[in-house]
Amino acid sequence: MNTRERRAGGLPVTVRQIAGLADLSASRYRPAGALRRLQLARFRRLAAEAVRDVPFHRERWREAGLRPEDIRSFDDLANIPPMSRSDLRGRPENEYTSARIDPSLCRTFMTSGTSGVPLSIHYRPEDERLFNLTWIRAYRACGLRARDHLAAFQADERRDPVTNGRWYTRIGLWRRTVFSAWASPESWLDGMARLRPNALATDAGTYRILAETVEASSRPAPRFRRLFNVSILIDPATRARIETLFGGTVFDLYGSFETGCLAWECPGCGGYHINSDTAVVEILKPDGREAGPGEAGEVVVTNLFSTAMPIIRYALGDIVVKADREPACGWPFPLLRSLEGRKDDFLRLADGRSIPPQPFHHIFAPRIGVRRWRVEQVSSGRVRVALETEREFNEASRALLQASVRDLLGAGVEIVWDFAARLPDDPGSKRRAVVNVMADGRAEE
Ligand SMILES: [Zn+2]
Repeated sequence: MNTRERRAGGLPVTVRQIAGLADLSASRYRPAGALRRLQLARFRRLAAEAVRDVPFHRERWREAGLRPEDIRSFDDLANIPPMSRSDLRGRPENEYTSARIDPSLCRTFMTSGTSGVPLSIHYRPEDERLFNLTWIRAYRACGLRARDHLAAFQADERRDPVTNGRWYTRIGLWRRTVFSAWASPESWLDGMARLRPNALATDAGTYRILAETVEASSRPAPRFRRLFNVSILIDPATRARIETLFGGTVFDLYGSFETGCLAWECPGCGGYHINSDTAVVEILKPDGREAGPGEAGEVVVTNLFSTAMPIIRYALGDIVVKADREPACGWPFPLLRSLEGRKDDFLRLADGRSIPPQPFHHIFAPRIGVRRWRVEQVSSGRVRVALETEREFNEASRALLQASVRDLLGAGVEIVWDFAARLPDDPGSKRRAVVNVMADGRAEE
């Protein structure tokens, strides 16, 4: 434990955490109009600091001919060009972090960088507290209780497992155990059997690996009262499989290192509430206009507490669908209907169609004899389908899969099949089953 962590473990910090959580919880009772005004005021304050202290943002606003004080309503946001990870990668950090902040005092997260170079995301300690609270509020809203013991996975944690050692965990409150994403699935299961967490938060790929490991062995499955999916997309087959195997109900939490928690699946509404007191989430159609109710679009987000490294109109690369109804549970936060997946995971065909990942899950996941599968778009006209099959896989299954994928993609696409693939477990990565290799910048042509 380093010095900063030890300081952060003391009582005053916990008091500030409780005060912060009380403030976030109060948003539940803010009228929608008050929430919008609060959001706009926080946006203008963040933008003013970013333009004053961060060269990258000063330049962008200057080029757009805008000043933060010119922002009168959310319609004005459209004049600021969206940014993305690729705008920051390769630049010196002092161009996009605040001149008033000492990076050595910041908490830093590394994005996993599925398509290459990772990016460091910095938070001031007080902003990191808010980052954590956006997640804690979402867990609580989805039914996690103070006495529950939550297990999670971390790619930057090499020890396995580690339980937080704060004073309140010793009286049985807010226990959290982190497993290393680099350890083996058997060691995760050993740790779970010993420490008995009763809630689990991880991504769809890790859930599948855990389920496979339990099913392939004679050991009993660990049981949980709540399961949280923290990857953008969990397919219906995996959701049903882990609910049966591990007990509990799956709730989706959506967010990123750049933004904290952005949205959470509401047990009362059947959609996803957007944390609109800590973020501005815009859902933009390809022409740059805001999606309407029931329409899909790309998430562009402003993190309202990102003062060390401002995240303003930042395209996360995720596709979501806006709900076409108002919340019914009492929370004033607007709703998303669904999370559709990463934009890079959509196949983009030469005839202009784009195909989301879900239909492939419906084709492959229930098929007997298919152990693992992966679909990769390698050029505008070619898709590679790799399957790792088991003995039960037969000619009839093969013909059915080929016909289903041909139906989905249409006659104009060349489909390259590999029925004898060996697909890696790939621990520590997101294990995406559908990948647009072209979007990852590794096209073969
Ligand atoms: Zn709700």
